[in-house]
Amino acid sequence: MPIDYKAVGLKVGLEIHVQLNTGRKLFCNCPPVVRNDEPHFRVIRRLRPSMSELGEVDPAAIWEFRKHRTFVYEGYYDTTCLVELDEEPPHDPDPESLEVALAVAMMFNAKIFDEVYVMRKTVIDGSNTSGFQRTMLIAHDGLAKFFDYKVPIQTIALRRMRLGRLRRGVTRLFIGLIGLVYHLLRYPREYSPTVLRRLWRWLTTLATALR
Ligand SMILES: [Zn+2]
Repeated sequence: MPIDYKAVGLKVGLEIHVQLNTGRKLFCNCPPVVRNDEPHFRVIRRLRPSMSELGEVDPAAIWEFRKHRTFVYEGYYDTTCLVELDEEPPHDPDPESLEVALAVAMMFNAKIFDEVYVMRKTVIDGSNTSGFQRTMLIAHDGLAKFFDYKVPIQTIALRRMRLGRLRRGVTRLFIGLIGLVYHLLRYPREYSPTVLRRLWRWLTTLATALR
């Protein structure tokens, strides 16, 4: 029996990510290339939870730590540097990526924040060498309008790529990424394949989208 989404009060949230093919990565000067050839070196790490600025330890980080996992990261001498390996502090955010994120914010008529901060969240599932995910909130409350659809966009953020759970080549790390978070909507009409395809095409028309 088909589900009557309206009757069950279904709410759907969605986040779309677009990788950026900018001149450099978000927090270092390495090129934003993804490589699958034989790595030049491997680094083995165990990540441990540490206290936040508020003096608390994230329970989710303790949970991950108790799994006693080790992570192997793979890199290349010519396209990765000490920043990806968390042996050097992140550099200033890439101005080109910031510009693209602002352009996307304007494209969707979103309200751009007066100041942009790099926020960090503890993530010790191995997807980041540093144990942190770094995100910058760029804008909020935008609206994507096309045909007779109006899809509200909650936030537009700029963040770096994290690594997959299987292969941990650090070339992916720090590639700039724009994340659009849509408001929870009551009915799935706004999430029909046509709408999603259209939104995706819209975003990938950006000259800097990594295809
Ligand atoms: Zn680098």
